[in-house]
Amino acid sequence: AKRDPHQPEFLQAVREVMTSLWPFVQNNPQYAKAGLLERLVEPERVIQFRVSWVDDSGQVQVNRAFRIQHNSAIGPFKGGMRFHPSVNLSILKFLAFEQTFKNALTTLPMGGGKGGSDFDPKGKSDGEVMRFCQALIFELYRHLGSDTDVPAGDIGVGAREIGFMAGMMKKLSNDTSGIFTGKGIAYGGSLMRPEATGYGTVYFAEEMLRRAGKSFDGLTVSISGSGNVAQFAAEKAMELNAKVVTVSDSGGTLYVKEGFTDELLEELKEWKNVQRGRLDEFAKVRGLQFEAGKRPWHIPVDIALPCATQNELDGDDARKLVANGAICVAEGANMPATLEAVDVFLEARTLYAPGKASNAGGVSTSGLEMSQNALRLSWHHAEVDERLHGIMKEIHANCAHHGKRADGSINYVDGANIAGFVKLADAIVAQGVY
Ligand code: NDP
Repeated sequence: AKRDPHQPEFLQAVREVMTSLWPFVQNNPQYAKAGLLERLVEPERVIQFRVSWVDDSGQVQVNRAFRIQHNSAIGPFKGGMRFHPSVNLSILKFLAFEQTFKNALTTLPMGGGKGGSDFDPKGKSDGEVMRFCQALIFELYRHLGSDTDVPAGDIGVGAREIGFMAGMMKKLSNDTSGIFTGKGIAYGGSLMRPEATGYGTVYFAEEMLRRAGKSFDGLTVSISGSGNVAQFAAEKAMELNAKVVTVSDSGGTLYVKEGFTDELLEELKEWKNVQRGRLDEFAKVRGLQFEAGKRPWHIPVDIALPCATQNELDGDDARKLVANGAICVAEGANMPATLEAVDVFLEARTLYAPGKASNAGGVSTSGLEMSQNALRLSWHHAEVDERLHGIMKEIHANCAHHGKRADGSINYVDGANIAGFVKLADAIVAQGVY
C-alpha cells in the first residue's frame, strides 16, 4: 500500500488474495521463504507508451496505452487488452495480478499479463478503430511473441480489434505464428473461443450446484453486462433450462420477467455485436422493460452471474441478493464483487465463485488456441468444448480441494487463491531468484 497508494483496484485484488494466503503460509512455512509474496505482487515489467493516430476529420488524437508483464514463472505472459476510457495503471495491474493466479489454475503453461488503453471504441468508425489498433501495435509489437507475451481481447476488444492488431503484428514481425488469441477462424482462431468465458462460467457454477445436490434446471438467473461474456453465459444457462431474466449495460438493466427466449437472445446478439446498439434502444424497439441507471441485483433470483466489470456488485447488492434467496453467485467478469460483497457471500454460505476460477474458461480456450497454432491443426467444436468443460471441472476440483471448510462446505475464494499460489510458488522457487 505504501508503494502504490494511488492504485485502489490493485490493492483491493492483492488484499483479497493475501487474506487467503497469509494463514496458509503460516501453516506451511516452506512457502514463507524466498520472498514469494513480495515477488508475486511486483510485476516483472510494466510498459507504458503513447499512441498517436489520425481521426476521420484529420485531427491527431493521443491515447495512453500499457502492457503489464506480470509473471512468467509458468509460461509466456498471457492476458487480454482492454479499451475503455477508465483504463489506468491500477486497473491493469489488478487485472494482470488476477490473471497470473487464474492462468496458474487452468492447468496450461501460461504466465500472467494484461494491457490496454484509455481509447474508447464507442462511436468510432471502423477506419478509426483500425488506425488506432495499428498505431498501438507499432510500439507494442517489439514486446510480444508467441513464446514471450500473447495478448487477447477484453472489454472493448473483440474480433474486429484483434484482427487489426494481429494483422499489423504479423506484418511488423514477419511472423505468422499467430501471436494474438481470439483470432478469427479464417486466420488461426479456435472454435469456441467466443463462447468460452460465458460457457465456462456456467460450467463452473454447474459444478458448484452439483456438489450441493442442485442444478440450473428451472432456476432463475440474473446476468449483468451484455457483451461477449454475458451473451454466452445466458446462452449456456438457457441451454441448461434456467430462466435468464436480465442483461445490462452501463445505461441500466433490461428486465425480461418471463425469461429470455432463444429468439430474443439472438436478436440481442445482433443488436450488440453487429449494430453496436445500446440496451435502452433495444428495449424501446422491442417493447421490453428497461430500468435506467439500475443494476440487476435487486431482482429476486436463484443465481447471479456478474459479467460486466469490476466493482459492479457492492455490499448492499450482496445483502439484497442473499435476502432474496440467491444460492449461487459465479463471476464471469473480473472482480465484479467488492471486498464487502465477498464477505457477505462467504458469511451467508452462498456458493460464491471468484472470477479467477469461474471465468478461466476464456483464457483456457486461448491456451488451446495456442496449442492448435503450434500444432498447425484446428480442432472441431465438440473437441474444444469437451476440453473446456474438462478444464472447468478440474479447476473446480482443485478449488474444492484447497478450500474445504471444517463443516465440509467450500470457500472458493481461499480454494482458488491457494491452488493458484501453490503452483506459482513451486515454479518460482524451482527457477531461482532473478
Ligand atoms: P465486452 O466489451 O464484450 O462487454 C462488456 C459489458 O460490460 C458491456 O455490456 C458493457 O456495457 C459493460 N460495462 C463495461 N464497463 C462498464 C462499466 N464501467 N459500468 C457498467 N457496465 C460496464 O467485454 P467482455 O464481455 O469481454 O468482458 C466482461 C468482463 O469479463 C470484464 O470484466 C472482463 O475482464 C471479463 N473477462 C472477459 C473474458 C473474455 O474472454 N472476454 C475472459 C475473462 C474475463 P457498455 O457497453 O455500456 O460499456
